Amino acid sequence: MSATVETMRAYRFCLDPSDRQRQVLARYAGAARWAFNARLAVLVDGHRRYLQEVAYATYTDDVDEAGARALVKARGGVATMSLASQSRELTTMIADHRSRAAADPDTEGAWLHTINRHAIVAGMRNADRAWSNWQSSHRGERGGARMGYPRFKKKGRARDSFALFHDVKRPGIRLATYRRLRLPGIGEIRLHDSGKRLGRAIARGEAIVQSVTVSRSGHRWYASVLVKQQQEQRGPSRRQRAAGTVGVDLGVKATAALSTGELVPNPRVKASVAARIAKTNRTLARAQKGSNRRRRLVARLGRLHHLEALERARHTHALTKRLATGWADVAVEDLHVAGMVRSARGTVEAPGRNVRAKAGLSRGILDVEPGEIRRQLAYKTSWYGSRLHVVDRWAPTSKTCSACGWVKPKLSLSERTFHCGDCDLVLDRDVNAARNIAALAAVPTEGGDAKARGGPAPEPPHGGEGAGSQKREDHHGGHRSGAIPNPSENPRVRGKPAA
Ligand SMILES: [Zn+2]
Repeated sequence: MSATVETMRAYRFCLDPSDRQRQVLARYAGAARWAFNARLAVLVDGHRRYLQEVAYATYTDDVDEAGARALVKARGGVATMSLASQSRELTTMIADHRSRAAADPDTEGAWLHTINRHAIVAGMRNADRAWSNWQSSHRGERGGARMGYPRFKKKGRARDSFALFHDVKRPGIRLATYRRLRLPGIGEIRLHDSGKRLGRAIARGEAIVQSVTVSRSGHRWYASVLVKQQQEQRGPSRRQRAAGTVGVDLGVKATAALSTGELVPNPRVKASVAARIAKTNRTLARAQKGSNRRRRLVARLGRLHHLEALERARHTHALTKRLATGWADVAVEDLHVAGMVRSARGTVEAPGRNVRAKAGLSRGILDVEPGEIRRQLAYKTSWYGSRLHVVDRWAPTSKTCSACGWVKPKLSLSERTFHCGDCDLVLDRDVNAARNIAALAAVPTEGGDAKARGGPAPEPPHGGEGAGSQKREDHHGGHRSGAIPNPSENPRVRGKPAA
């Protein structure tokens, strides 16, 4: 009875390109940057003309700005070239570059024809995405911090990266061997680690490569191969069911506090690495601008930060895998991270309160990336047969006693221990919160299904239905619960609902 679900899954490989290939990759990244900028220029220009029209309408039609915007829209808006027509124009440009290069091999500025067309279109598409993200953020339709106006990518400042996609029926992106990744237009690049797992999934017909993103981080190049994969849907193992539900309070003092009482410490940047980063920064401050020494120092700093990031990533992956494999249900809080980090400073008119206490909080949060932990939990729980529950972010999980339900009227960030005013519970503040989070996600097993108790029904992927399509980032399954249940009425229940 093994049903399968279709998920999008990324396989990330470290590449070992030859020196010549490094140059090609850098050229592709440059081309993607060019494409992004070319597309963004069109969008920015359209926007500028729109604002001009609006300004003109306020003047000629004697209306306020909102009225003028409505008027311009009613008159058909301002025409901006679509991505489709811009990519048609690209075809002409590519042909032009090709014929110029053919006529004179030494001609300068004819390069478009040497780059796989898909890489250029993907770069343009990224600009469209950045633009619409900015627009929806601007209109307040998007969570998280307000995004700035999309900026043009500058060489050396923007991350070196490009994407390639292909016709799935005639795959140009594929593994030539377990150790060699073939990229259209670029050739075969040696993988630093083995592609066996992906290769086998493809051979079994379970995985279909959709696209690849190649990016540079520090001195290394990486390829992230996105595949559509059929995965067997499985429920929790006996061991996971026996462990039941774990509540996870993400990142203030520690990376996570678990309802079991465990505190998962923040990743320690190796003291040696931290010291080298500090020293390199000091030396860099004295280095002459534009000097070779400065360039070397910047490269060294990049490598050190890369080491640090790798360590952090390892730590996060180890934690999320342990949570997803160790319990049947994993409960986290729906944190609004961007808001929490930003709010502390406040504004000039309304400076933030408790800035110092919150600055510590913000730093902690940035160190452990709760958003990333949650994202990983979302897809790993679906891989390992467990379920992720995201509990309401307004539930007062920190202030409520996990034993008796008493709510503390005021709890400052500096209070690390929760003292209950009613039942004498004394517990680490974050463990107390983690227990409340677990209780919020508790799924009743006895006395009927979850619906009967007023909670929302459990959602797939464990509903036992057939293949559904889900993109892993979008899937954060499970319930959202409201108020914290009183534990005396709602004993924490272990295991999977009968539904
Ligand atoms: Zn209590």
